[in-house]
Amino acid sequence: MGGVTAFWCERAWLPDGVQDRVRVSAERELVTAVEAGEDAHPDDERLHGIVLPGFANAHSHAFHRVLRGRTHSDGGTFWTWREQMYEVAARLDPDSYRRLATAVYAEMALAGVTCVGEFHYLHHAPGGSAYADPNAMGEALRLAARTAGVRLTLLDTCYLAGGIGTPLTDSQLRFGDGDADRWAERLAAMTPDANTRIGAAIHSVRAVPADQIPTVVSAAARRPLHMHLSEQSAENEQCLDAYGVTPTELLDRQAALGPRTTAVHATHLTRHDAALLGQSTSSVCFCPTTERDLADGIGPARALRDAGSPLVLGSDQHAVIDLLEEARALEMHERLTSHERGRFAPYELIAALTTAGHASLGWPEAGRLAVGSPCDLVAITLDTPRTAGIDPEQVLYAATSADIHAVIVNGRSVVKDGSHLLGDVGALLRRAVADLDAVEIGNPGDSRR
Ligand SMILES: [Zn+2]
Repeated sequence: MGGVTAFWCERAWLPDGVQDRVRVSAERELVTAVEAGEDAHPDDERLHGIVLPGFANAHSHAFHRVLRGRTHSDGGTFWTWREQMYEVAARLDPDSYRRLATAVYAEMALAGVTCVGEFHYLHHAPGGSAYADPNAMGEALRLAARTAGVRLTLLDTCYLAGGIGTPLTDSQLRFGDGDADRWAERLAAMTPDANTRIGAAIHSVRAVPADQIPTVVSAAARRPLHMHLSEQSAENEQCLDAYGVTPTELLDRQAALGPRTTAVHATHLTRHDAALLGQSTSSVCFCPTTERDLADGIGPARALRDAGSPLVLGSDQHAVIDLLEEARALEMHERLTSHERGRFAPYELIAALTTAGHASLGWPEAGRLAVGSPCDLVAITLDTPRTAGIDPEQVLYAATSADIHAVIVNGRSVVKDGSHLLGDVGALLRRAVADLDAVEIGNPGDSRR
């Protein structure tokens, strides 16, 4: 991108609050000036309503999007939902995954997401044999994010066991690398690029034996390290049985907590768990629309923040892709358990969506409208039936992703007048899901290594 681009915002959420008539200039993807109380210049791109910094979606499994609106007919539990999810996983190859993920990331862009953290464990072919490029599935995600116009942190996930002390099942074989050393070898072959950073993940204490965790931690080195934590109480019980400690205590004991760590869900915690996460300044990623969809429960968000953990947000299984709804639900679920309103200040919810979320994904320079940050802008209309008449500073309590009319990523327009640069995202999603439905699932044990 050459030269200076400028955006004139009717209103914008700056680091010190909402300001009117804000001109944001950008050069080579970065913000070079932010001036409030300015008139628009003739060539400025005008963004009406209120403009927020780009949103970070800190926890995504792109392929779970296929299950949206298709798992509700016969009740069930998290564990029966997981069986349906494995059936989708069994149908994917690098090509179909790229097409599906492109559509899912485009849906995210429409919802104001400028950076996504993909918690990626679908590594190998069904049965577990490696593709010619052992990172073909990760490369498919890299290409998908670039095509959809969002930045990516690929959180390459170590997944070794079907449960504590149990081997991978047939449908889980393609997630596994055998041991943490071989996982680390594959991770080392992935290189970052201008649009992509590489992080690491421990699937959970269910899927990575305690003695393998230190290898993952040292391979993650200075990169983001994410893990699922205590989403279900069954995980706590199994961990206590096997190791005599909670999952959080086990991770602490294995030196997996710290400022580059993000624990995802953290739903069923003891007070001691929350203190360990807070003292280590590990971030905690809440995924409220997933946690309610899967009947997980409500984690102690306020207590974790007070203990010292930055909070971030993810749409996880994508039953809903609306980061405004995730932020709103963080507060609303707290209200339901505490019987109090205003558990989080609006600026705290904005931080979860923007600065803290980007830091958790290894982009600490992003998520604020300030000089030197990537020029990521999300413009929300304030004259739709949902947003008309609201106080702009309370936009998080009223707007939905459907009210986002423009999204700029790295100074480049990805969503304009409510449309994504790829065109009809609904059609892309429909086609990707239909293609997968048509795939015959073989016996995943056939090509077992
Ligand atoms: Zn997850």
